[in-house]
Amino acid sequence: MIDHKLNTRGIEPQGPIVGIDLGTTNSLIGIYDGGFSIIFANSEGSRLTPSVVSYSEELAPLIGHVAERQALLYPEKTIISVKRLMGQRIGDPQCAGRNHLYGKSGDPLKIKLGDKLVTPEEVSAEILKELKSIAEERLGVSVSRAIITVPAYFNDAQRQATRRAGELAGFCVERIISEPTAAALAYGLDKLKDQSKIAVYDFGGGTFDLSILKLDHGLFEVLSTCGDTNLGGDTMDQALMELLLGKLALKNSLDLKSLTRLHQIVRSAKEELSYNEEIILRLPFLHHRASEEVTLTRRELEDIALPIIERTRSLCLRALADAELEAQDLDEVILVGGATRMPVVRSFVEQLFCKPPNLTQHPDEAVVMGALLQGAILQGNLENLTLLDITPLSLGIETFGGLMNVIIPRNTTIPTKAGELFTNARTDQNKMKITLLQGERELAKDNWKLGELELSFTPARKGEARVGVQFSIDANGILEVLARDITSGEEKIIELAHAIDVSDEAVEAMISDSLEHAFEDRDARLFTEAKLQAEEMLPAVENALRELHSLLSSDMQNALRARMDDVRLALKQEELTSLKKGLQELDQATQGLATLLVEKAMHELD
Ligand code: AMP
Repeated sequence: MIDHKLNTRGIEPQGPIVGIDLGTTNSLIGIYDGGFSIIFANSEGSRLTPSVVSYSEELAPLIGHVAERQALLYPEKTIISVKRLMGQRIGDPQCAGRNHLYGKSGDPLKIKLGDKLVTPEEVSAEILKELKSIAEERLGVSVSRAIITVPAYFNDAQRQATRRAGELAGFCVERIISEPTAAALAYGLDKLKDQSKIAVYDFGGGTFDLSILKLDHGLFEVLSTCGDTNLGGDTMDQALMELLLGKLALKNSLDLKSLTRLHQIVRSAKEELSYNEEIILRLPFLHHRASEEVTLTRRELEDIALPIIERTRSLCLRALADAELEAQDLDEVILVGGATRMPVVRSFVEQLFCKPPNLTQHPDEAVVMGALLQGAILQGNLENLTLLDITPLSLGIETFGGLMNVIIPRNTTIPTKAGELFTNARTDQNKMKITLLQGERELAKDNWKLGELELSFTPARKGEARVGVQFSIDANGILEVLARDITSGEEKIIELAHAIDVSDEAVEAMISDSLEHAFEDRDARLFTEAKLQAEEMLPAVENALRELHSLLSSDMQNALRARMDDVRLALKQEELTSLKKGLQELDQATQGLATLLVEKAMHELD
């Protein structure tokens, strides 16, 4: 989702636009200048600044490597992975297992760090301020415009929280862009003349995203995207910690300080095992114990990591299915995020997509590269490149029998416009209630209701009124629904802000529900459709029987009544197979009735 705003003071700021990857584990800042993409190194000479903030009573907060060191001494004043808490409320799934959280269930959360009570936005703003000062020091000018990246599945609250963090840090946030899209932008720049389809497999510290994009002569189009906000290198660290605590018989006995220390050791061990087959972990004086050494092999790590990596498989397959592609149709699979350095992740991706992943992008830097290139595009320094966004869930209206009628399917590129014609279910009906829905389920009641509008139209016989319903979504994700009576021209319009910004968990839940209930949903839809057909046919046949009474033999009349009884029984028993069979037989039995009716009418005219 791309959006744009003036800064908090309402001023359109001047100056260069920096690109920022505000990561769960590490953050980066860079700029496109004079034809070069530059990522700035911090005062420790590293382009990665750990997304860690440590508060103290007297001093300004410490950020980055220095805060990471403080985490060992003052874990109660130090916070890691704050990105997971952005836009969350107390009790949300992302809060599970987190220390320091403060507030009543359902409240926007606060974090208690030492004697400070801060919001996730304020913590993120500290990281952003640090990045800002790194860029200003390197550039020698003040920097106030930024593009910030977020995971593709960040919902509106999380994006707004990120924007607020940027503003608190003194930035005008020019755009919030999706991380995989940014990575693809970085990747696609040197392939401008090609038409290609690529998958971005983004496995970072806290989140996993798989996006499928089409690159066509400088136009980037996201075909589909699927992800999990709670899956990444941190998940592996957690599993590895448990293995170690088990090995050392230390379960439940470590205090926060020792746990923090162990977490850092475990994380570096995991990272080292990407390059070594075996390492020795030195565990210094944990929980009043003597210093210990434990050997850890890549094999052991992979045994733990593989089930976690496997969880990305169904998400990848879903994204491929949504894009209507097979793995073989992809030209490239690119890897983004620190966890993709693991050999086991690379071979998993190779096996899943039937081709070796493209490693030309630096897994830590592709996202910030894309962000700074987007900055260059906005400033007019790079031409012929556009980014498009997609609808995460289908949009439609409720139609006869309580069914979902999809107007804009999931994963449609925005901006987009689509419409359909509807008619009246009853004679002399003069109003139509249009219920706007979002979701992937077949029955309206299982989807989310976005809103409702009522349109009056010229009364007409059943099936004769014509009401056009048009959905359009603009580049900012605003959905406008227009309903028009084609006869009178009367129309109603309703506008819904951010119809494409749906919470990531909600999208995931909706999709997994739709998969889980796929068969029963399909049967429910088929039954409703057959029921509607039966409700049309039964009165029509009754009517024909009355009209043709004198022309039909009693055998024929009895046969027709028997077929109608079969249909009624199947309806009563809600039996789809017998209903379909009954309708088919009734249809065959009534062949010829229409001709007889026409002949009778002609005869009456004579
Ligand atoms: P990101 O969110 O993209 O910065 O990725 C951070 C995650 O990548 C953390 O879980 C890191 O431990 C992990 N990571 C970084 N380097 C490596 C490596 N060499 N091998 C395995 N995991 C790594």
